[in-house]
Amino acid sequence: MYEFSGQKIFVAGHRGMVGAALVRRLEHENVELLTASSGDLDLRDQAEVRRWMEKNKPQAIFLAAAKVGGIAANDRFPADFLYDNLMIEANVIHAAHEFGVEKLLLLGSTCIYPKLSPQPIPEEALLTGPLEPTNEWYAIAKIAGIKLCQAYRRQHGSDFIAAQPTNLYGPGDNFDLETSHVLPALMRKAHDAKRKNAPSMTVWGSGAPLREFMHVDDLADALVFLMQTYSGEMHVNCGTGEEVSIQALAEAIKAVVDYDGELVFDASKPDGTPRKLADSSRLHALGWSHAISLQEGLADTYRWFLESEPDALRFV
Ligand code: GDP
Repeated sequence: MYEFSGQKIFVAGHRGMVGAALVRRLEHENVELLTASSGDLDLRDQAEVRRWMEKNKPQAIFLAAAKVGGIAANDRFPADFLYDNLMIEANVIHAAHEFGVEKLLLLGSTCIYPKLSPQPIPEEALLTGPLEPTNEWYAIAKIAGIKLCQAYRRQHGSDFIAAQPTNLYGPGDNFDLETSHVLPALMRKAHDAKRKNAPSMTVWGSGAPLREFMHVDDLADALVFLMQTYSGEMHVNCGTGEEVSIQALAEAIKAVVDYDGELVFDASKPDGTPRKLADSSRLHALGWSHAISLQEGLADTYRWFLESEPDALRFV
């Protein structure tokens, strides 16, 4: 058990969706929270990271800072995805070792797994086959991050762990229709269709693919749980274990938005992989499971969207 009470905890990447959820979650703990904006601390700069770590001396770190984005962004900026993420991880993990950080948790994503992984995807699938080429820049960097945690544990006994969340959603999500994932995209489409009194809204593909969605506040809770209770070389998947079809998701979103038009399925758009589910049995066996149902989570996300609509559209 790693005791949080009274500790100085650094959330790297507190402006991101996961980092912001961690800050909300840690406000309920008796900890001294450290954050740094990218203007004050460029995590890609080794000397800056060393100086900051020496001055602030965190005892534990959630490494949630990363360059993230969808297919289009990965395709346009492969160098940024690989270089930025490698540098952030190498600098923070090495400085954590140098300055005696007691515990570090690295955030990844289930897109690190091979394209043709068994479903649900177990942690052991890592490095067993070729990656999905559209996000391999990000995935290679994140795999290197997991390996850094393992290597520092083996060589120096550092208590560094890694967690791989499934598809996340919630406050702070990206609602831009061109670059967002399906959940915020459908929420925004339902919202716009309702506002315009449109008779229907479009759903890409057949609606048949199955996906798993986790509210980011559930993830933050799981990460705090892992930080306090888990120590090991094996990275840990974080998901709900529940799947929903895209059609069922679209219906649930219509209900939350209170839009009663038709769903039109656009077969010219790709379905992508038929099923994508993380095997979270390791996390569940450790004693954690999610608390926020999809319906509650959608309602919470829609509330956030309505409160911050102009901002939500800023992430383009
Ligand atoms: P994936 O999980 O990596 O495939 O990424 P997405 O979240 O972008 O897409 C998941 C599924 O939702 C795919 O089958 C998409 O075709 C489907 N989908 C339906 N409507 C939309 C939409 O408006 N935007 C996106 N991004 N996906 C959609």
